Amino acid sequence: MTQLRIPGPTPLPPEVLQIMTRQMINHRGAEFHDMLNGITAKLKQLFLTRNDVFLLTGSGTGGMEAVIVNTLSPGDAVLGVSIGVFGDRFINIASSFGARVTPLKFEMGKAADPDAVRKALQSDPQIKAVLVTHNETSTGITNDLAALAKAVKEFDKLLIVDAISSLGCIACPIDEWNLDVVVTGSQKGFMAPPGLAMVSINQKGWQANATAKMPRFYWDFGKAKKYLEINENPWTPCLPAIYAMSVSLDMMLEEGLNNIIARHARVAKAAREGVKALGLTPFADPKYASNTVTAVNLPQGVEYKKMSKMLREEYKVVVSGGQQSLDGKIFRIGHLGWVTEKDIEEVISALKLAIPKVAAQK
Ligand SMILES: *Cc1c(COP(=O)(O)O)cnc(C)c1O
Repeated sequence: MTQLRIPGPTPLPPEVLQIMTRQMINHRGAEFHDMLNGITAKLKQLFLTRNDVFLLTGSGTGGMEAVIVNTLSPGDAVLGVSIGVFGDRFINIASSFGARVTPLKFEMGKAADPDAVRKALQSDPQIKAVLVTHNETSTGITNDLAALAKAVKEFDKLLIVDAISSLGCIACPIDEWNLDVVVTGSQKGFMAPPGLAMVSINQKGWQANATAKMPRFYWDFGKAKKYLEINENPWTPCLPAIYAMSVSLDMMLEEGLNNIIARHARVAKAAREGVKALGLTPFADPKYASNTVTAVNLPQGVEYKKMSKMLREEYKVVVSGGQQSLDGKIFRIGHLGWVTEKDIEEVISALKLAIPKVAAQK
């Protein structure tokens, strides 16, 4: 079997794969009503929230667009905290819909500084909302979201969080941390295929929604809320992915959130120590190294394309490269969702054999 060790899509357990062969059902029928009702309740358990939670059909980026257009208006001043490619994407989405975004960027491989967020909010009282990435998948950094949320809440701003590669893997208690609007995706930590974005919105989020004027139709949370009252989606949902979630969420609850978080911590430690034992250096600031993705500096004289080709063809291991400015400089090992230390051992063994061979190639 191929070791698909990229930060999403992630491999699926056999039970989850199996259910996706099921025949389609009526998405306005009783069977679907039960399924969506169950999934929504289980998501709230895993998100540690009593907020409204919607299951949207779309990838994570669709969910990012949804949370922006449902809470902001063109011309709104927004602080966009970015520590990498996905933080930049959030800024770009908000800007595309007419928000006036002040970017607050930090060096790649470093976490965002809560005091810098405080300063930015102090210097511009117009700012209405703050965009934050919990886990920056492009650099393998997990922001101190509790501290960032605290800073944002000192100024009573709307906090919008991309938790796409953290929720369900890394602690992210939505209500305890006062996260107003949060988005995640099915193909990252949830042992499900791509196709669904899950969002949580609290009362402050709904207050913002009441005056938000950005154009929206498909993503309209008003419609999502109305339909969820009868356990439906406004539009035809991605049924196979929903079948998958109905099984994978049960598996997650059976394992238990704290055990899942502990497993991701162990697996990530194995990844970091494994690459260091090979003489490689992790890219991320060790203090904030992510438990879902490990970014590694490419060794001298090893080209990413050659290395990934050899890993794939000779060792059946698939890793990710660097994105944008990190292209050709790092590679990334995804370890989220259905993953154990044994999977990481296999990746490390493959790297151990592949790297010297690639380095020796002309
Ligand atoms: C994967 C990811 C996204 C994008 O999700 P898609 O499903 O590819 O649209 C956004 N933010 C983060 C942090 C991610 O890891």
